[in-house]
Amino acid sequence: MNLVVVSNRVARAKANEPMTGGLAAALLPVVEKSGAVWVGSSGRVRDGSQKDPFAEVEALGAGALALLDLPAAHYGGYYEGFANSALWPALHSRSDLIRVSQDDYQSYREVNAFMARSLMRFRKPDTAFWIQDYHFLALGAELRDLGVKQPIGFFLHTPWPARAIIGCVPHHRELIGAMLAYDLIGFQTDDDCENFLGYLQSELGLEAEDGVVISSHGKSRCAVFPIGIDVEKFALQAAKASSHPEVSRLRGSLNGERLAIGVDRMDYSKGLVNRIDAFDRMLTAQPALKRTVSLLQIATPSRGTIEAYGNLQSELAKLVSDVNGRHGEVDWTPIRYLNKGFSQTVLSGLYRTAHVGLVTPLHDGMNLVAKEYVAAQNPADPGVLVLSKFAGAANELTTALLVNPHDIDGMSRVMATALSMPLTERRMRWEAMMRKLRAGTIQQWFADFIETLESSRAPDEPANDDLAVGPPNPWPLQAVGSGSARIH
Ligand code: UDP
Repeated sequence: MNLVVVSNRVARAKANEPMTGGLAAALLPVVEKSGAVWVGSSGRVRDGSQKDPFAEVEALGAGALALLDLPAAHYGGYYEGFANSALWPALHSRSDLIRVSQDDYQSYREVNAFMARSLMRFRKPDTAFWIQDYHFLALGAELRDLGVKQPIGFFLHTPWPARAIIGCVPHHRELIGAMLAYDLIGFQTDDDCENFLGYLQSELGLEAEDGVVISSHGKSRCAVFPIGIDVEKFALQAAKASSHPEVSRLRGSLNGERLAIGVDRMDYSKGLVNRIDAFDRMLTAQPALKRTVSLLQIATPSRGTIEAYGNLQSELAKLVSDVNGRHGEVDWTPIRYLNKGFSQTVLSGLYRTAHVGLVTPLHDGMNLVAKEYVAAQNPADPGVLVLSKFAGAANELTTALLVNPHDIDGMSRVMATALSMPLTERRMRWEAMMRKLRAGTIQQWFADFIETLESSRAPDEPANDDLAVGPPNPWPLQAVGSGSARIH
């Protein structure tokens, strides 16, 4: 089988650069090994007058990475508009933050259709397409309109909310109806899958049997595939990274303090304000903890041109400076707050240095930082994970200290408990989490999805043999197309 993986962002295999998010970080090692073609945005737009939308096609492991310039006229409406100001807030149960226009929806559909046309270059008789995430809900339907008969799978990296919330997205019926062109629709958790099936039943009148729904598009299977990480690789990397200069400098700066760490994109779904509030309340309630602990909060800038993100950035900067101003001492800063990204190599060493990992999103599809924090710990002296009940990871990491991120008092008490947990309890909890991580690695996730996708396509729908075939592998590296403009 020839696999074509599609996502908005792709990862470039540069060890010293930060990843652009969980999806890209998770997919890179498995796509690299699989021989798949990975198609995504080049980070540039262009006016669409050029015949070939691909800016670069280069080798990636045994396969290829194909980057395309998206159409300039529709990029804003697609990315900042419909995807990130309608779908993202709704998928994270923040319907109050939905800001969207009719044009945004049109642009979203245009970009999905553009991507479908571009993918034809890689279509072969035995190709299977695997579409990633909320940027491309309608891509499967666009591919079917172009006559694609091959298996098409879709995986949603975010949560799927309750019916009333997704119902706030304009054109939700048309869009979710279009999703049924996928042969397989994968979710992170049982709750997400049940919410989706509940929507199909109540809004579209479609009943599922064992997760299989029949619609005008044919059969679609809905199933759960919790995404994992490469546990052993992360553990090894973390052990090595202890001697990285940046990690040594952090250790050297601690003056015997215990360290709590938070690593998040700056996003309202991550619960950063509540986390800082809880840390503040812990220091107020237990002044003896002052000077014995500090919080390293990495908040990587994200989607800064969208108003809700700009507002969050200002609110957090003010909040952190207020907490530091009230609790700080001449030789102690309670919160070290950094608005920049780190490579995963350095991050793994920072996780290992921290006695407590704070992963407290209000809603999160999985949250890979939670899994990475656990994998990075020193087995002889592991740290404690404080984890939101509303992160997908909480379904597996049940021996973390689970918290409700809306309960600031409760969270502040749990933070204090984590800081003083004895070694035997830390080890017991950590070992149980490692067993879960080893049982559900990223390699396993990838293999399970592909196997289910292959078996989901009805046998009476053979692959069409008279298809245009793509160029042979490996594809030659091409120059970046002229007339393109950088967007991220
Ligand atoms: N990450 C990184 N550098 C940073 C911050 C984060 O490489 O400075 C990576 C991190 O290791 C993780 C991913 O970005 O793999 C974040 O994934 P997660 O699922 O936690 O959240 P998302 O950003 O996808 O919402």
